[in-house]
Amino acid sequence: MDKTAVFYVFIIGNPDIQGGFCMLASKLYCPTLRNDPVEADIVSHKYMLKAGMIRKNASGFYSFLPLARRSILKIEQIIREEMNKTGAQEIMMPIVQPAEIWQESGRWDVYGKEMFKLVDRHGKEHCLAPTHEELITTLVRNELRSYKQLPINLYQIQNKYRDEIRPRFGLMRSREFVMKDAYSFDMDEEGLALTYQDMYNAYSRIFTRCGLQYSIVLADSGQIGGKYSHEFMALAQSGEAEVVSCTHCEYAADIEQAEPKTLTMDVEPMVELSKFATPHCSTIEELVKVAAVPIEKTIKAVAFDIDGVLALCMVRGDHDVNDVAVQRIVGGNDVTTASAELLKQHGLVPGYMSPIGANKTDESFVILVDPTVMQIYNGVAGANEEGYHYRYVTPQRDFTDVRVETIRFMTEQDQCPLCNAPIQRAHGIEVGQVFQLGTKYSEALQATFLDKTGKAKPFVMGCYGIGVTRTLAASIEQYHDENGIIWPVAIAPYEGVILPLNMKDESMVTIAQNLYAQLMVDNDEFVLDDRNERAGVKFKDADLIGYPIQVIVGKDAVQQGNIEIKIRRTGEKYVVPINEAASQVQNKLKELRQLHQ
Ligand code: ATP
Ligand code: MG
Repeated sequence: MDKTAVFYVFIIGNPDIQGGFCMLASKLYCPTLRNDPVEADIVSHKYMLKAGMIRKNASGFYSFLPLARRSILKIEQIIREEMNKTGAQEIMMPIVQPAEIWQESGRWDVYGKEMFKLVDRHGKEHCLAPTHEELITTLVRNELRSYKQLPINLYQIQNKYRDEIRPRFGLMRSREFVMKDAYSFDMDEEGLALTYQDMYNAYSRIFTRCGLQYSIVLADSGQIGGKYSHEFMALAQSGEAEVVSCTHCEYAADIEQAEPKTLTMDVEPMVELSKFATPHCSTIEELVKVAAVPIEKTIKAVAFDIDGVLALCMVRGDHDVNDVAVQRIVGGNDVTTASAELLKQHGLVPGYMSPIGANKTDESFVILVDPTVMQIYNGVAGANEEGYHYRYVTPQRDFTDVRVETIRFMTEQDQCPLCNAPIQRAHGIEVGQVFQLGTKYSEALQATFLDKTGKAKPFVMGCYGIGVTRTLAASIEQYHDENGIIWPVAIAPYEGVILPLNMKDESMVTIAQNLYAQLMVDNDEFVLDDRNERAGVKFKDADLIGYPIQVIVGKDAVQQGNIEIKIRRTGEKYVVPINEAASQVQNKLKELRQLHQ
């Protein structure tokens, strides 16, 4: 008996033993759905539910069924390989963390409602970790002591918990998700810069190997803090993040981080302010019509309540306020739209707000004006009186007691801040982010090491996150068609499927089983669709699940000894003789793997 035949007998004789990598479809727990699930708004969510990969058990909480689990493990393995290559070491820290360490760092209250909190039987407060800066810093602070042990980079792959205000889009924004998080400790800023670059490079390899099309952009460091950060954005229409990039040079940034240049406007002789009636005119579009001025001459107002501080933000009518920039400038944790009550207290009239006539008495009210607004001569702005605006507003003359700060989003009309070429905007999914933290956590938590001279110094830290489950969803957003998922081989749950089209035809089944056994011997990852289903159903499921290769064993196999190999990605089909099928499948797999290396 040859090797293949031995395996064949072994497998078929032991239906419960599937070998290491292959699987019988009749055994695979993959409850596919015939209809589109109504709750899914984006493709990845829809296809993961439909292909029997995930099931929701509460808003933002999902079970991963075998196909999803396999893909996740593959992504994790790619991450492990690339992290280990940089010398980073894998650890595992608790998910449940005591409140004290978060109080020590000052983030217990800062994190706000996004943090799941719980109380143990002794009345002690804990949280489910949204991230691990505090824990890792307290973990090393008493035992990592000497500069000789540095740099060091520790990582884990683990569930994180965030009580997101709007969990949605399936795995894209869930309340429990898998994250790879790494934390580095260096002696100084130069050391951190090198570690950061290593991580930046490792992340580039990870996402390339996962097959993603991504862009690396300058980012805001948000809640995590620190000075310098990049995000890895998988470009996709459904992405919640927006990125701007230069059409000419390397410049690319998260829209929240991008700082547009001030636009200049023609200098005009200043005319005296004049109030005019603008009833039912609370939007810029209406105002442009009623005032008969170009939109560039209008001034828009947006007001936020930031931890009780009222921030009135003024941008040009055709621009939008960047709330993240506002928060960077004002500070604070909780940014919400200012209530009518708060506006009234400060003399602001909704729909007609401006600094003119506002009641600014103390620091609980700040007025931020975008520098481009300061370039306007004889513009139009609210009069803080229902149904009235002012004409001939020249902010440099008429806006008093204001702070001039860049608070607007970059638009496609802006120029690249580096080279002045045109800017483009695109949607992205943030799959990873790297931060240079500096000494924020080591100082707060008193984590120091002894330098060469024996002096205690705070660690210079970096942290690096990858959304593992979000990466899975992002891949589907990028690779799919109207029939289902199109996996890149590296993260496909299985590399291919063998489709015997008629299970009642014994010869056909035998050919398929032999091929299955052969591929199993070679450690390929194939599913044999041995279900007693019609050919149409098998094709449909194969396309939906997105196996990169379909090996079709039909009438031709029995009558002419030919098998068809279909590449899911391109739809290309190759007819090959049975005895060459396994090697041809492997050649095709090799070609597909090379696409993302
Ligand atoms: P976002 O801005 O999308 O809320 P974040 O910047 O708060 O994300 P990080 O703290 O940088 O997230 O976390 C690291 C990675 O974890 C992110 O790059 C993202 O891929 C992933 N991630 C964050 N929040 C979620 C979530 N709710 N569901 C799934 N993945 C998430
Ligand atoms: Mg982030």
